[in-house]
Amino acid sequence: NERNRWKAVDYADGVLSGDLAMLSRAITLVESRLESDRAIADQVINMLISHTGRSKRIGITGAPGVGKSTFIEQLGKEVIKKGLRLAVLSVDPSSAKSGGSILGDKTRMEQLSKTEKAFIRPSPGSGHQGGVSAFTREAMLLCEAAGYEVVIVETIGVGQSEVQVKEMVDFFMLLVQPESGDELQGVKRGIMEMVDAIVVNKADRSNLEKAKQTQKELEGALHLLHQEAIHGQGKVMLASSLEGSGFGDIWKVTEDYFTTIQQSGFLEQNRLNQRTYWFYAHVQRILEQKFYHNPAVKEQMAKAVAEVKQAEASPANVARKLVEEFFKKLSSKSS
Ligand code: GDP
Repeated sequence: NERNRWKAVDYADGVLSGDLAMLSRAITLVESRLESDRAIADQVINMLISHTGRSKRIGITGAPGVGKSTFIEQLGKEVIKKGLRLAVLSVDPSSAKSGGSILGDKTRMEQLSKTEKAFIRPSPGSGHQGGVSAFTREAMLLCEAAGYEVVIVETIGVGQSEVQVKEMVDFFMLLVQPESGDELQGVKRGIMEMVDAIVVNKADRSNLEKAKQTQKELEGALHLLHQEAIHGQGKVMLASSLEGSGFGDIWKVTEDYFTTIQQSGFLEQNRLNQRTYWFYAHVQRILEQKFYHNPAVKEQMAKAVAEVKQAEASPANVARKLVEEFFKKLSSKSS
C-alpha cells in the first residue's frame, strides 16, 4: 500500500498547496474502505475543514444521454473564462454496484480535463455499499481546500443519489431534453421539487421551437409546484451544449442565485442543515460498519438469516434480537 508513505499532515499540506497528485491521493484515501485509511482520512479532513466552504457548490442531474458531460464541458469553459478554477466530481451509484459506470469515466469532458484550471475526478470505483456520496462530499471538501472556487457534483439520479447530491450542494440543476407534453411526464415530480433550476439542453438552432415549448411546459409545472420566487427558483433555461449557446446566461443566473442566497442567509442556513444530514449519515455508516465487522455478529449472522428463512420467525424480531445482543455485549465490556 503506497499510501502508507504519507501521514495525515502530508496529505493536508499537499492539498493546501494545490499539489494535484496529492489531491488525487487524498481523494483516493477518503474513498478507501480500509479502517486504517479511514482513520487517516478523518484526520486529513479535520485538518482541512477550516479551509473548506468557500466554493460555489453546484449539483447537476439528468438521465443518461441528456448531455451532462457535454454541458459541464461548456459551463466549465464559462467558469474558467471568469478566472475561476473548477472541480468536477460524480456520484454514480451504478459504479459502486457493478464496477461499471453509467457515467462512463473514459472520454468524458475531454477538453476540460486538459486544462489545469479544471480538475475532473471520476466516480469512486467498485466496492462501496451505500456510502459513495458521503465520500464524494469529502472529496468536495478536499477540492475546496485545494482552492477550487467552483465544484460541480454530477449524478444520473439512480436510487437515492439525487437526494444526496441535493444535500451537498447550494444550487441544484436538472438537465432535460426538448420533449413534448406526454414525454415530459417521465421527468419525475420528486426531482422537480428538489431542483433550483432546469436547463433544456439540446436547444440547438434546428430544435429551438420544440425546446421553447418544453421550457414553457416546465415553467408551468414548476409554477404548480410553487417553486417560483423562492431564492429565484423556478427558472427554466435553454442551452445547446453542442453549439455552445446559452452558457453566458446560465452562469449569470447561477451567480445571481449565489448572491441572493448569500445575502438572505439561506446559504449558511442550508449548509448548516446539510452538515447535520451528513452527521447522521456518518453515524449510520459507522454503526453499520462496527456492527457487521463485530466477530460475534459475524458468527451469529448466518444463523439469524437461516432462522428468518424458516418462515416461522419474524424478520423484525430476529433482527432486534441480533442487534440487542450486540449492544448488550458492548455495554458489558465497557462496564
Ligand atoms: P450524459 O450521458 O448526460 O453525460 O450525455 P453526454 O454529454 O454524453 O451526451 C449524450 C449525447 O448527446 C452525445 O452524443 C452528445 O454529443 C449529445 N449532445 C449533448 N449536448 C447536445 C446538444 O446540445 N445538442 C445536441 N444535438 N446533442 C447534444
